[in-house]
Amino acid sequence: MKAEYFCPPIYMGESVYSWLSRWIIGMPFPCITQGQNLLLGSRNKQMNAQFPGYLPQLSAQSGLTLSQLINDHTLIPYFKHFCQDNDYASLLKDVKSGDTCATFSKMSLTASRIHPKHANNYCPMCVQEDIERYGVTFWHVSHFLPGVTSCVKHGIDLISVDIPRRALSTPPESDLKTEFKASHSKACLLANLSFSLLTEVNSLGDGVKAAETYRTKLVELGFAANVNSIHQRELRESLEGFWEPILDSYEVALIFNLGQGITFPSCLFYQADSHHHPLLHLLMIGMLFGSIEEFKDYGQCSGNQTHEVQTPSLEKERFIQKENQALEALKAGESLRKASSYSGLSVIKVKQLAIQNNIFIDRREQFIFAHERKVIVEQLRQGIPTKVIAEAFGCSIGAVEQLLSQHPDLVELRKYRRYRIKRGKHRARLLAFLKQEPNCTRGNIQNAIRAAYTWLFKRDKAWLYSHLPRRVRYRYWPRK
Ligand SMILES: [Zn+2]
Repeated sequence: MKAEYFCPPIYMGESVYSWLSRWIIGMPFPCITQGQNLLLGSRNKQMNAQFPGYLPQLSAQSGLTLSQLINDHTLIPYFKHFCQDNDYASLLKDVKSGDTCATFSKMSLTASRIHPKHANNYCPMCVQEDIERYGVTFWHVSHFLPGVTSCVKHGIDLISVDIPRRALSTPPESDLKTEFKASHSKACLLANLSFSLLTEVNSLGDGVKAAETYRTKLVELGFAANVNSIHQRELRESLEGFWEPILDSYEVALIFNLGQGITFPSCLFYQADSHHHPLLHLLMIGMLFGSIEEFKDYGQCSGNQTHEVQTPSLEKERFIQKENQALEALKAGESLRKASSYSGLSVIKVKQLAIQNNIFIDRREQFIFAHERKVIVEQLRQGIPTKVIAEAFGCSIGAVEQLLSQHPDLVELRKYRRYRIKRGKHRARLLAFLKQEPNCTRGNIQNAIRAAYTWLFKRDKAWLYSHLPRRVRYRYWPRK
């Protein structure tokens, strides 16, 4: 019996781990280990690994090339950025030879501290779509991106399931939720940035070039008088403030806690030649540039060129893939903006595609009738989100926002309302933590609930200090 007889098709965006799981589970053996032995020649391989050690076996028995598997079905291309070419070449060599035991630690100390968690994410809407389209569920590579908690396609929160490294699995098919939680805009931003990095054909250059680009931009933004004197503390505080809504996400929290909370972001400048995890760079790029495209354009203007590491034919293939993704989204009735964010193409490019393919773009009404204005103003007063109002009245969000801008008092009222809601949420979080950990220190609180702590520190300091435990005095000697 040969393993290739049972090879299932691999779907677009599916992770190799998912494909391997479906392959082995689908074999007619009473025991999983028999399938593992037949396909991989061993039952001791780590199945659910960021750098899988079983690609040569899968390639040999499926007819797919190693490059196809690596580029389209693993997170490996995400790691080609912000490092030296020979570091990435060494990573590829390990993966292609199937010897990845030491890969994580070889990729320098700074990178290896961000260990992936033993859990897999799935998007309940993607699961539903996959069942309708293919009749099966599978894990998507884009849902495994480090720090990402939102589906890049649907903008809703991913659901996390604990999976041991050696286990085989697919996302659940039953008990699916029908209510989906829309992700915070910062979670969507990180998902978009990470997906762009994964699908970016060319390497964005090494850490030294990235640091130069950050320095130039920071001077422009007033974080420094010149490129050699970045105000690291201010920068750190701004980064914490900017990413506050997702500071509790597992890998993001690890980064902000590196070196007792002082390593990031200064390491990107002072150890720019080290191989840092790409997520450190993404947190910086997100705040300074908002998108990978902007970062690239800015870097090119200030003289930092990106460089080729892949063949032009692959680049063309990737571009066609992006076009197909955009077309698929447009045909499913998504807006230009959404289709642009799924595919990584610009809005203008997506619009051209729509026109070339005779796809009708639904433009929302820009005009609001006089009798509707009164009702909308009342709803705005009640704090209803502009998006919800726009949908209810069948007009564009821009039209509602324009109406809102004509009532400055409402803008203030809505701001204050949002502030009250957030303050309540963060205060409750802190009180619950204090109740749970009555003997904790201020440091414990910061590490455990950094998002709430930072928010309160910035906007509700008096209340925060009246509830914090006493500051523990640091003693140089005698040591504890
Ligand atoms: Zn999804």
